[in-house]
Formats: sequence, C-alpha cells, structure tokens
Amino acid sequence: MTTALLTHSDCLDHVTPPGHAERVDRLRAVAEALTTEGFAGLLREDAPLADEAELLRAHPQGYVDKIKAARPAEGTVALDADTHMSPGSFRAALRAVGGALRAVDMVMAGEAANAFVAVRPPGHHAETARAMGFCLFSTVAIAARYALDRHGLSRVAVVDFDVHHGNGTQDVLWDDPRVLFVSTHQMPLYPGTGAAIETGAAGNILNLPLPPMSDGRRFRAEFEAHALPRLDAFAPELVLVSAGFDSHAADPLAQLVWGVPDFAWITRRLCDIAEAHSGGRLVSTLEGGYDLEALAASVAAHVAVLMERGA
Ligand SMILES: [Zn+2]
Repeated sequence: MTTALLTHSDCLDHVTPPGHAERVDRLRAVAEALTTEGFAGLLREDAPLADEAELLRAHPQGYVDKIKAARPAEGTVALDADTHMSPGSFRAALRAVGGALRAVDMVMAGEAANAFVAVRPPGHHAETARAMGFCLFSTVAIAARYALDRHGLSRVAVVDFDVHHGNGTQDVLWDDPRVLFVSTHQMPLYPGTGAAIETGAAGNILNLPLPPMSDGRRFRAEFEAHALPRLDAFAPELVLVSAGFDSHAADPLAQLVWGVPDFAWITRRLCDIAEAHSGGRLVSTLEGGYDLEALAASVAAHVAVLMERGA
C-alpha cells in the first residue's frame, strides 16, 4: 500500500489577477516540494475531470450553470472581491473535484492507503449557492457525499485545519448527520463564521475557534481535548481533510503561529483516527497556504506523514 498524489496541470490554468494571494505559483511550489527524493514512492495520478453531475451533490443546477456561464473568454472576471475566474477556472475546479473523488475511489478500493489531492481552486468557502473566498465548488463536501452515496458508507468525518473557517463545507453539510465536520480556525478572521455555538442541525458540527496568535501548543491542547474524543466517538469509516497551511506563522493572511511540526502533528492524529476506525483510509485535499516557502515545507511534512503511515 502507498500514498496517492493526485494533481493536474489544468489547475495552473485557473489564473487570478496580479497580486492575488491564491495564485498559480502556489501549486508550482507544492509540486516542487513533492518532487524531492523522499517522495519518489508516491503513487502519482492525474486528477480526472469530475462529471458535472457530481457537483449536484452539493450545489443546485442553477448555481453550476451560473458559474459555468461566468467564465470569461479572456482575462479574469470577479465573482466577488476575493473570488475570480479565468477561462480555465471551471475546468480547473472540475479537476479539483475529480481528483478528490478519484482519491476516495482509490482508498475505498485499497489501491492506496491514503491520498493527497494537490489542486486549486480551493473549495471550503464555496457555499451551496455562493462562490466566495477563492472557492467555486465545495470540493470536500462533494467528496463526503460521494463517499456516502456511491460507496455506501454511513459515517464520514471531515476535518478542516485551514486557518479560515470552512463555512462552505459547513453550509453544505449543516443538516447531514452522516458527516461529522470539525473545523479549527482563527477567530476573528474571514469569513466570520465558525463560532463554537454553530453545531449543525443534527449536532454534527464542531467548531474550535482559536484567538489570533495561538501557537501550535494551544491548538494541540484544544484538538486533543475536544476534537479527538468527538472523532473517536463518531468512528468514521473514512476521514476527509481540508488541508490548509495558512495557520503557519509566516502566512500573510492570518495571525496563527503554527510551525511545520504542527502540521506533521495534526496529520499523525488524523491518521490515528483513520487507523482506529477507517482502516487507515484518509483523503486530504489542499485548501489555503499563501507563503510559498511555508506552504512547500508544510505540505512536505503533511505528505511525509501520510507516506509513513500509509506504507
Ligand atoms: Zn485559508
């Protein structure tokens, strides 16, 4: 068994305006970090294009049509102050969703022990009918629904350690008791949601907001006290991860002060949960991370742990 890496060059064709934090170079930095010798054992596969019907697991047809129609013929178009589309964005987003779904298929079939999906645009801010926060489609929520409905699972955990609250994932999965959604994030910070009192219609959501300047020690203590017992009790049959690396101290968009070892730590804990309940099955998808050096080092630490635990 091994760790799968799914990515696609189409994800470089999602172009944002000059100076935008969520830029093409992020994915280049991630790809370069994973080409060093230690990552030779990755099972590399191109992320396939998702069938457009898969988007309907999280979004109404009207929304999908609207995003598709918003594609500019050239240049970029702004969907809101943060979220832009270029001619290649819709296809890149279909690769992102397709990569996540293929990764689910691979771990469910035992073709890989776990997987990392290196794609963009990210997905965790995209709500049921609203693109926002650099995100077009709710990739991880779609993957959760796909695992439940296509693979016949009853319980899927989604853990989001991006520094921003996964409001889109929460919106899509708000009333789905088959999913436990756990998010750690800085508060106050964009998008403003993610208070501890937001627990989902079925009590299926756990938000762990962290004050600015929280270090890895604070995060680990909160996660151990609150998230790990909930995840253990839920006993997921699959663990999905919204892996954002913008909690790193060097990240320009937020003020948490995690270091690279904190990303290795959370990856180990999530692998522990997967090993205890899910046969080790874990699929991690790239969300944020905007300092290229910190992003590359943090992704490398994350994937190194996946490989160590997936071997
Ligand atoms: Zn983020």
